[in-house]
Amino acid sequence: MSQLSSTMIKETAMELPEMSDAHCHLELFKHPLEIIERVRSEGIRMIITSGGTVEGNMGAVEMTGYDGVFATVGIDPSAIGDADRIEDLEMQVRSNPKIIGIGEIGLDSKYIDRYGLDLQRDIFRKQINIAEELDIPVVVHARGMMKHVVEIVHEFPRVRFMMHFFDGTLEEAQKLAGMGHLISIPPRLSSNRKKVIKHLDISNIVVETDSPVAGNSPSDVKETLEFISKMKGISFYDVASMITGNLKRFFYI
Ligand SMILES: [Zn+2]
Repeated sequence: MSQLSSTMIKETAMELPEMSDAHCHLELFKHPLEIIERVRSEGIRMIITSGGTVEGNMGAVEMTGYDGVFATVGIDPSAIGDADRIEDLEMQVRSNPKIIGIGEIGLDSKYIDRYGLDLQRDIFRKQINIAEELDIPVVVHARGMMKHVVEIVHEFPRVRFMMHFFDGTLEEAQKLAGMGHLISIPPRLSSNRKKVIKHLDISNIVVETDSPVAGNSPSDVKETLEFISKMKGISFYDVASMITGNLKRFFYI
């Protein structure tokens, strides 16, 4: 066999990197199945789709019918009007092994005028209690409210939190990571996020797209993985599988 053809065989036999999207909203795509199949063929092996409203939760749960797709359910700060349905969350989690966390839930500065900080905190804590009872992680939404969110995280030392769309400082990331929480990095790499990637151990990091809200599709994790690979001097293939491993361990998948 010539050298060229043996190289070609090796390349085609090589498996795709095992990538994952720690946070998106598949149910918001017009044709989610097409998206799932396309990104799967590109190497996205695991997707966590997060609800946040009663309707969003139903959609997210529906997506768990697809291979490699897992869901979280919760009432986010925009949907506090749905707070009387918080009690449903426990039953939803218990009835489907692919619902692996509570979220996205948290605090949002955009809704302070409408709902106030105390009510947002109250709804956030109520749902963390459910996660604690079920021993599953929380997917945290913290737009403009990192300081207040971190305070609440400290109140629940037994609960694991994934900080979705992380927008805090390196110091906050280090503190959270030190407590065993996960820092989820979206495609838009601000200078703070670049610092977090540089200084945080890779075992504390996952990547997400928040698509279609922020990114185009779960494939957008590739850009972030490439950046991490260069910054850490680890091959793309290894970075992808390490980060997917982080996600699996964290969510007990
Ligand atoms: Zn989201």
